[in-house]
Amino acid sequence: MSISLNIKEIQSQLPLQTQLVAVSKFHTEKDILEAYSTGQRIFGESKVQELLKKQENLPKDIQWHFIGHLQTNKVKYIAPFISLIHSVDSLDLLEEINKQAQKANRIIPVLMQIHIAKEDTKFGFSYEECENLLSEIQWEKYAYVKIHGLMGMATNTDNKLQIRSEYQQLAAFYKKVKKDFLPEDTNFKELSMGMSDDYQIAIEEGSTFVRIGSSIFGARTY
Ligand SMILES: *Cc1c(COP(=O)(O)O)cnc(C)c1O
Repeated sequence: MSISLNIKEIQSQLPLQTQLVAVSKFHTEKDILEAYSTGQRIFGESKVQELLKKQENLPKDIQWHFIGHLQTNKVKYIAPFISLIHSVDSLDLLEEINKQAQKANRIIPVLMQIHIAKEDTKFGFSYEECENLLSEIQWEKYAYVKIHGLMGMATNTDNKLQIRSEYQQLAAFYKKVKKDFLPEDTNFKELSMGMSDDYQIAIEEGSTFVRIGSSIFGARTY
């Protein structure tokens, strides 16, 4: 299958409220342009250096999403152009994004990453940490970031029931956060969950962004 056919096949399965983030990390600019030619405009990257090169060389109407662990000292490089950061996993990082967004004279949309997997290897807040942060945060200090929702990565397992249960819990927490902390905030509307192996489940559980790499571009060679 070709990249453009893969994109069309996945796009045809998405409900109206779900957008595709084509995860292009470790793939070439040529591959990204093939996806772009089908109308795909949202691309996800997880390494700052790689993203900067691609952003410079590729069409300016691409919306770049940052999906990987972001080091605070690298925020300044992507602040001028990044469309959405899916992976805010500490208050320090949120503060730095706010600072660099102010310097770049823009407001940066972000998602809070929640650690939903039964693995130690993935980043993110626990449900409790996220609630504590939201109940204590002084919003007036964060005028240059907007929290648009939550992101989570399920456990890397073949157990579909476990994956579904992790996504269900995240969706329930998203609703609770919206009701308890941000009831009037129309920006808070995104739930980023689902990758190549589990995006159908994620869609059924209410995902608004699926982040799909290998099912579009093939296996990554690191
Ligand atoms: C790499 C990556 C993806 C895409 O994974 P695939 O299994 O190739 O679809 C999605 N989300 C995050 C956070 C990633 O790092």
